[in-house]
Amino acid sequence: MVFEHVLDTGPSMMYSITEQVLEDIKAFGVTDGLAVVYCPHTTAAITINEGADPSVVSDLLKGLEAISPQRASYTHGEGNSHAHLKSTLVGVSQTLVIENGRLLLGTWQSVFFCEFDGPRRRKYYVKIINGSPIVSHMAAGQK
Ligand code: ZN
Repeated sequence: MVFEHVLDTGPSMMYSITEQVLEDIKAFGVTDGLAVVYCPHTTAAITINEGADPSVVSDLLKGLEAISPQRASYTHGEGNSHAHLKSTLVGVSQTLVIENGRLLLGTWQSVFFCEFDGPRRRKYYVKIINGSPIVSHMAAGQK
């Protein structure tokens, strides 16, 4: 089962989607497994980083802009090569561990959808994979 979500974004920004992923896990009823968060876009990304202090997000965006500035001698005609580069640097998916119905995230970690070429209507997917230890135990016993 895959959950599909729509996000209307503004200009370059990171949106915490941690609560949505937790809701999907609860709705699916899996207590142990994996959640793959994936975005099907070439100028957006998914990452995990600090969600407590909003200045971390603004510094990350500032740092990515320094690495991949909007104005450079790119050749791509759409004029958004800086956003394509940021998407590739950050990556379009993250795999999260679900343990006892919770995400194994650190105290300060949040899951973010990263917009590098907004505003746009975006999508992201949450694929939950059941890894129940009971199922694993039974499979091991059948060898
Ligand atoms: Zn483009």
